[in-house]
Amino acid sequence: MAIIGTDLGLAAEFLAAGELVGMPTETVYGLAGNALDPDAVTKIFKTKNRPSFDPLIVHTSDISKVTDFVEEFPASLRLLAERFWPGPLTLLLPKKKNVPDLVTSGLDTVAVRVPRHELTLRLLRQLPFPLAAPSANPFGYISPTKAVHVNDQLGDKIPYILDGGACEVGLESTIVGMLDGEVTVFRLGGLEVKKIESIVGKVKVMAHSSSNPQSPGMLKSHYAPTKPFLIGNLSSMIKKYQEKEVPFAVLAFRAFFDTVEEGKQVQLSLDGSLEEAAKNLFAAMRTLDSLNVSVILSEYLPDEGLGKAINDRLKRAAAESMDSDEDIRIQTF
Ligand code: AMP
Ligand code: MG
Repeated sequence: MAIIGTDLGLAAEFLAAGELVGMPTETVYGLAGNALDPDAVTKIFKTKNRPSFDPLIVHTSDISKVTDFVEEFPASLRLLAERFWPGPLTLLLPKKKNVPDLVTSGLDTVAVRVPRHELTLRLLRQLPFPLAAPSANPFGYISPTKAVHVNDQLGDKIPYILDGGACEVGLESTIVGMLDGEVTVFRLGGLEVKKIESIVGKVKVMAHSSSNPQSPGMLKSHYAPTKPFLIGNLSSMIKKYQEKEVPFAVLAFRAFFDTVEEGKQVQLSLDGSLEEAAKNLFAAMRTLDSLNVSVILSEYLPDEGLGKAINDRLKRAAAESMDSDEDIRIQTF
């Protein structure tokens, strides 16, 4: 198993030696390696079992360092960086040659972000290279929001996990780039679209198409538990599964269900806070996935603010289960 701790010197040593380290950020935990070292980057893909067509996000400590590996910074994207970094915003920028093609899956843009986590910022400041870091989970599974999640799944494959506590935002970053000269959102995430629009005006959102080759992370089925995961009207789904005598667990926004055992249900935010719900989402999905049940029942959250990004994750977690069960799909929508 990996060592879990807060020793920045040790983490930096492993990274400088081409090893991978679990790294906290405000969004989710990353699986970090030297972004400019093709061998370290190859290790990232292998360790996660991530397909090579899914490019990585490169993390750096300061906006002034971006030009070390980026050709140019379009003015409107620079405005966003100045306003929202450090924070849950990833920008797609034209890459320099020193970024290995593997990092960008052969694309000529590289995804870049300055994370908002003090421990990780201190680590990045110590290092003479940026860190490529996708979420620290096997490809396709629920993203990790605590050090222990990383250890559970990748602990036998990496030497060290930097423990920065529970992630403050809990959802992946919002990905923004230029498309035909327009600022475009490619993945909904921890930074709300309306905050982006308050700086650069109306933007295009392309995050809903599942087949857009520009951003392979928009795969339809992703962030998925191992158990079937269904979304619909919770009261009627609960009734149906009780009648069928199929053991189930419930992931609710704020409602508590008296007819369901307390240990078999999780409320994302009793107060109805979307921020709190985002922060709890992935840990709740992991908890329910570990229970002795046959199916997880869930519901959409209000489709506003962070609720849009949460619903995007729920939809993708459910994609395979809903596609494979025509009967359930018709009943619950
Ligand atoms: P993750 O690090 O797992 O949260 O996901 C990184 C995601 O960023 C990928 O799955 C892509 O969707 C997106 N991405 C990274 N680099 C690029 C790029 N150069 N162009 C478009 N999308 C990118
Ligand atoms: Mg991921």
